[in-house]
Amino acid sequence: MSTLSSQVIRDLTSIVGEDNVVTSGEETKIYSRDALLRFRPFTLPSRGRSIVVVKPYSAEEVEEIVKLANTHRVPIVPYGGGTGLMGGAASLTNSIVINLSRMNKILEINVRDRTVTAEAGITLGELDAALREKGLMLGHDPWSRPRATLGGSISTNGMGYTAAGYGSIRRQVLGLEVVLPTGAKIETRPAEDSSTGPSLTQLFIGAEGTLGIITKATLRVFPQPERQKLLGYEFETFADGFNAIMKMYESRAVPTVVDYGEEGDGPVDPMGSYPANLFLMVEGFSEYVEAVAERVSRICEQFGGRRKDDSWAVEYWETRHEPMYRYERIIREDTFPEWLGEVLLDFIHIYLPASRVLAYREKSAPILAKRGIKILDRSIWKQPELFSMVMVKLPEPSFAEAAREMLEAFDELMALCHNMGGSMEYCHGVGVRLSKYMEREHGIDGLEALRQIKRALDPNNIMNPGKLSLS
Ligand SMILES: Cc1cc2nc3c(=O)[nH]c(=O)nc-3n(C[C@H](O)[C@H](O)[C@H](O)COP(=O)(O)OP(=O)(O)OC[C@H]3O[C@@H](n4cnc5c(N)ncnc54)[C@H](O)[C@@H]3O)c2cc1C
Repeated sequence: MSTLSSQVIRDLTSIVGEDNVVTSGEETKIYSRDALLRFRPFTLPSRGRSIVVVKPYSAEEVEEIVKLANTHRVPIVPYGGGTGLMGGAASLTNSIVINLSRMNKILEINVRDRTVTAEAGITLGELDAALREKGLMLGHDPWSRPRATLGGSISTNGMGYTAAGYGSIRRQVLGLEVVLPTGAKIETRPAEDSSTGPSLTQLFIGAEGTLGIITKATLRVFPQPERQKLLGYEFETFADGFNAIMKMYESRAVPTVVDYGEEGDGPVDPMGSYPANLFLMVEGFSEYVEAVAERVSRICEQFGGRRKDDSWAVEYWETRHEPMYRYERIIREDTFPEWLGEVLLDFIHIYLPASRVLAYREKSAPILAKRGIKILDRSIWKQPELFSMVMVKLPEPSFAEAAREMLEAFDELMALCHNMGGSMEYCHGVGVRLSKYMEREHGIDGLEALRQIKRALDPNNIMNPGKLSLS
């Protein structure tokens, strides 16, 4: 167990200044966890009892902090917006939490190159707004855009609404500046494609701060489209809309946003089938938008889709970031969402071969039904392979018993996913929540290879230890 000696705290203060070191009070409570909150059926294996939050202003200050931590063997937890849902930014032991919020400067927007270079602590919302003033935009637009940071999004390989058009953030990162666990700073060469050995840039994408702290990133950004068209369709059954999306991909008529889901007015019976809504957005130059919109509309109709009123699609698009604002107080206070009441809630976001998605949906239903777990929504995002479910259960006969049953069901759902050739998570990372499935995800030798990389870069295991089953 590490200790945060008064000497370490004095040294941290001399690096970042007294105002940027917090050792007690509400702030240390908030920064000791992320958005893996207590209504999820999962408790952290341990918690840091005394954390210190430091707020560096520059990569040089981050280097000094990391060197200090490495010398004293004190764990470090990099912290972006704290919107991560898997406990990646939670402190499992006494730690130095590096809050990157002061490192929020945009260093260069290059309109001709269509690139931006910014510090890791900037929120995606701020970055996108600055790009839009120059006629550009970010290709990454998650629900959490107002609060999630550039560094946190890269570290979880996040995916946003527009991923069918621009891919997950992995596809948009050109180069990174990273402070390694020993305090050395490296800068990878910003390039979309290079044939220069294994990609160092990619090594840190999705690593959730276990291999180093991203201090700066250069991204591919995009000219704002000439035109955008929003479309909504309603289908009789989940399978009808799913098959329409399959057909769009087969026809290579792919919109920029594909968001499809079946939802009742409240929790629904896992064995049931409910009307499902498909939101599509096509953007680009006018002739392209017209042609793709025309083709996808035809495909929807072919599968029995009924066009929804345009106001539905407009409202969907304009309110797409609202869940983040609704979550803000819940995250700060670690409380229950008032629109749900005191229920347990969990979700899966998995990747499956497209041909197995409908079978997975069917096979997962009895796993949930036999434990009285209801579904809030089942959905497809971006492409037919990406399947999600949001699940809820009343805390009966007790919170602990209901949580146990949900965890048991979750184990079965993960095993089913792996057995059907899938991958366990497509955008929120692993953190601590999914750590126990890492061996099955990567195989024994695969996980060992990842652990060897971790040991080589972080010999003293100070960088976000206990996450991703890497240490
Ligand atoms: C309401 C809501 C909606 C969401 N919607 C989406 C969505 O649409 N798409 C999506 O992909 N995710 C979504 N998420 C999850 C979350 O927003 C993402 O995981 C996001 O990418 C995390 O960014 P953050 O800055 O908050 O990171 P944090 O939660 O602070 O950190 C995430 C992980 O990255 C590490 N980290 C943070 N900064 C750095 C850094 N600079 N260098 C190295 N490691 C670092 C942390 O240690 C942690 O392991 C949602 C979450 C909520 C609460």
